[in-house]
Amino acid sequence: MIKIEGVRKVFNGVTVLDHIDLKVEKGEVVSILGSSGSGKSTLLRCINGLEKLDGGRISVDGFDVARPKELAEARKRSATVFQLFNLYPHMTAVQNLMLAPVEVLKVPKAKAEADARALLASVGLSERADAYPAQLSGGQRQRVGIARALAVNPSYLLLDEVTSALDPEMTAEVLRILARLADEGTTMVFVTHEVEFARTISSRVVFLEKGRLLVDLPTAEFFADDGGLANPRVRQFLSNMS
Ligand code: ATP
Ligand code: MG
Repeated sequence: MIKIEGVRKVFNGVTVLDHIDLKVEKGEVVSILGSSGSGKSTLLRCINGLEKLDGGRISVDGFDVARPKELAEARKRSATVFQLFNLYPHMTAVQNLMLAPVEVLKVPKAKAEADARALLASVGLSERADAYPAQLSGGQRQRVGIARALAVNPSYLLLDEVTSALDPEMTAEVLRILARLADEGTTMVFVTHEVEFARTISSRVVFLEKGRLLVDLPTAEFFADDGGLANPRVRQFLSNMS
């Protein structure tokens, strides 16, 4: 379980996360919606220990991300895919996928390569496995990014607006893969502007507003008139999206 309790984050005197409580159990797909600047990316960065907390606690399967000795264990369990493809440019797709398994998990190279090629095939990129990032389209690069996150067999996949830099066709390619992962039971925390997609794949939807968690409901209730839509801010947000 990812357990977020009373988390506060302050940047330059401005509170950008304010007493956030959120639990994500194995098998859930939790979408995080909210306006630009509401704190979505900061929350993901706090989960993987990239930001220091100013209050509260986050643990991943019981490992506290604020304790240096436990952070490594927490990080082994979750993997993040960012909005902008942060692949290593001097490595091919397959080499990008092999890096963490070989260097961190000490998987033998031959096995890591076979696993990497199988994962690339699973995202439709077996033909492009030996290409460098610059030789791939944006959608292909993002699929490599997702495959690379999966290469460490994470219990939790954190996704930060992975389609927002893509055109509609490339977005559809990537969303198809995420839908399949959700079907397979991959636990995901999914920050997105793709409201309709969030509605189809999520088990729960969370709405952030100015660093506060305003709504946290099962998906059907979130989109119900007497559920999440009863909140004027949620209603306004959704009407601006459509
Ligand atoms: P978007 O939808 O635009 O990606 P977001 O919900 O992901 O927005 P965050 O990136 O989490 O928002 O930012 C939340 C707030 O924290 C914003 O006001 C932002 O300016 C501020 N912020 C984020 N990172 C930093 C930083 N490193 N230093 C100072 N302020 C920051
Ligand atoms: Mg963001």
